[in-house]
Amino acid sequence: MRVLVTGGAGFVGSHTVVELVAAGHDVHVVENFCNSERWIVERIERLTGQSLSLDELDIRDREAMRSSMHRFRPDAVIHFAALKSVSESTQQPASYYDVNVTGTATLLEVMREVECRQIVFSSSATVYGQPEACPVAEGARVDPGNPYGRTKLVGEWMIRDCASVPGAVLSAAILRYFNPVGAHPSGLIGELPRGVPNNLAPYITQTALGLRDHIRVFGDDYATPDGTGVRDYIHVVDLAKAHVAALTLLSAGEARALTLNLGTGRGYSVLELIETFSAVVGKPIPYVVQGRRAGDIGECWADPTLANTVLGWQAEKTLEEICADAWRWQQACVSAAE
Ligand code: UDP
Repeated sequence: MRVLVTGGAGFVGSHTVVELVAAGHDVHVVENFCNSERWIVERIERLTGQSLSLDELDIRDREAMRSSMHRFRPDAVIHFAALKSVSESTQQPASYYDVNVTGTATLLEVMREVECRQIVFSSSATVYGQPEACPVAEGARVDPGNPYGRTKLVGEWMIRDCASVPGAVLSAAILRYFNPVGAHPSGLIGELPRGVPNNLAPYITQTALGLRDHIRVFGDDYATPDGTGVRDYIHVVDLAKAHVAALTLLSAGEARALTLNLGTGRGYSVLELIETFSAVVGKPIPYVVQGRRAGDIGECWADPTLANTVLGWQAEKTLEEICADAWRWQQACVSAAE
């Protein structure tokens, strides 16, 4: 299939591009590099063994999107391009609505113009907010507790509405990611947080490398087995493969607007993640317990049964593999910078 990928140089986007090419798809990326690096393109090319077709543009630029889509004529779009920091979204909500909501609306309009009829949308478990119970299934109440989560929910609504127009030809897979972590096993691509990481996994690897003094554990008084927050950490390569499976499902014409949780179905605590990283790195990684982070929830892990069933997919990589791959990538990043 001819697949247009927005945000294809980002964390999940870059891994998905590699899996799409491996599966034989013809890929074209649109990317504005606002939160990704140009050298990732060359890394993707090394991994795929072919040059990457790419337009540097902003998805809100309707004319640029039109021109790109008219030239490439995609059968399907995988839409990653978005701002993704929960904390930043509380400081700059209008920017988040502009990029994530206006950007998605522009994309949907241009898709309609060029008669592109399939979309895979990058959503987030953040839409659930504080879950009433775990594991969280797709039918659970949605109630995002921050602007980032709300922009993702609005994106979902827009896509479902477009797929519900009478006589509509759009079909969609809305993928709600739990906590994407890990890196490509080659060590060539991975997560590239700018500045101090907000997320736990890159904070741990940067601390292990000595770039930060200690990990700050945000709260040990949650109603969880060891009191620290529990999340469903999913390897980014597993996540990428789910996108390829979702495309296959859409192209078979078997879905109109499908919402799927992408997680492992198992939660790990902050301390369990630190311990597993310490074992992989081969030394203890220092941490200090602090108070809870505002807006955090105690536990959130997925019921991925629906994705397992309809996609014939399941997360395969272990927490050890997640940590080993993230650590290899972190070390490679520093040697690349030296
Ligand atoms: N966390 C932490 N220290 C950090 C970053 C995160 O203890 O420096 C905790 C956080 O409270 C949560 C878990 O790690 O329990 C995952 O946090 P992350 O920000 O990676 O993901 P999210 O909270 O968005 O699921």
